[in-house]
Amino acid sequence: MLTLSGQNGGGQILRSSLTLSMITGQPFRLTKIRGARPRPGLARQHLTCVKAAAEICDGAIDGAEMGSTEIIFQPGKVTGGNYKFAIGTAGSTTLLAQTLLPALWQAKKSSSLTLEGGTHNPMAPPMDFLTRAYLPILKKMGVTINASLERYGFVPAGGGLIQFEIPSDQKIAPIEILERGEELEKRIHCINSHIPHDVAQKETNALFNQLDWPENTIFIESPENADCPGNVLAAEVTFANVTERVTTFGAHGKTSKRVSQEVAKMMTNYLDSEAVVGRNLADQLLLPMALAGGGKIHTSAPSNHVKTNIEVIEEFLPVKFEVEPHLRGCHFISVK
Ligand code: ATP
Repeated sequence: MLTLSGQNGGGQILRSSLTLSMITGQPFRLTKIRGARPRPGLARQHLTCVKAAAEICDGAIDGAEMGSTEIIFQPGKVTGGNYKFAIGTAGSTTLLAQTLLPALWQAKKSSSLTLEGGTHNPMAPPMDFLTRAYLPILKKMGVTINASLERYGFVPAGGGLIQFEIPSDQKIAPIEILERGEELEKRIHCINSHIPHDVAQKETNALFNQLDWPENTIFIESPENADCPGNVLAAEVTFANVTERVTTFGAHGKTSKRVSQEVAKMMTNYLDSEAVVGRNLADQLLLPMALAGGGKIHTSAPSNHVKTNIEVIEEFLPVKFEVEPHLRGCHFISVK
């Protein structure tokens, strides 16, 4: 049995291990789960990932309890079908989705996946990041997944609902993302739920002044279907080969100027850096690239997530990643 340590990372070590175990049939033992986090062990979101993975592959688990710092996972065979999992808190549904989707798109039967919890969380890909930045790259790699957001889920209430339709037996092919390509669209996007409209107006106006983007790039959405208020501000730029979307969250006592400055700084850093694939998307593409058995991306300096994810993937699959420095702090990451 493969034994891994979660000492140097967070939930991603667990999630990638679950995905790869389901796909390869390789059982694993993970110790020191989320060892680098202030409160190590399985939180509700991670526990749901473990239980959901076990359900879709008819696997056996030991240690699947709240707070557990060690689990043993023995996968069975992945079976496509209709699945519904509720996290029970505002824990991220998109991270749960990223754990399960690769196993389901390879299954012999098509699937539909319904997930309940947080849809727009700090420190996780917001649902719009998934639909606008992550899934379009999978599509270019030959994997089609139809995603929809039925209900918003913000911190602290959660209660959001996202759905995926996943055709069966999809093969993923290598991709090279080495240039941004032609710029196609820019968007300043505010999701402002159960919060006065002028907050969204102030944030988006400030952001458009800071970024100096055209006025027709502003989109304000005021959804009613959420269990608690939420204020999400994002800037997005779509090029022919890649989309980067940076996001921050409004909070009580945080000025609209500060909210917009956070987004402006992240977007300006990305645009000035000449990196092609953004920092977050880079760590999320490593697993699909490894499953495709090849490919290369150009990105910023490798984050901790990139480093630990490479280590986990190389434990499960017969692949080797190479991280090569390029100009101005950027790097190429390739896999063979
Ligand atoms: P922990 O609670 O242990 O920190 P976690 O389960 O929340 O862990 P991490 O291991 O920190 O997860 O992984 C978070 C993932 O979310 C990474 O893939 C990261 O790229 C992604 N992510 C974080 N913030 C964003 C964002 N704003 N946009 C897109 N992706 C994001």
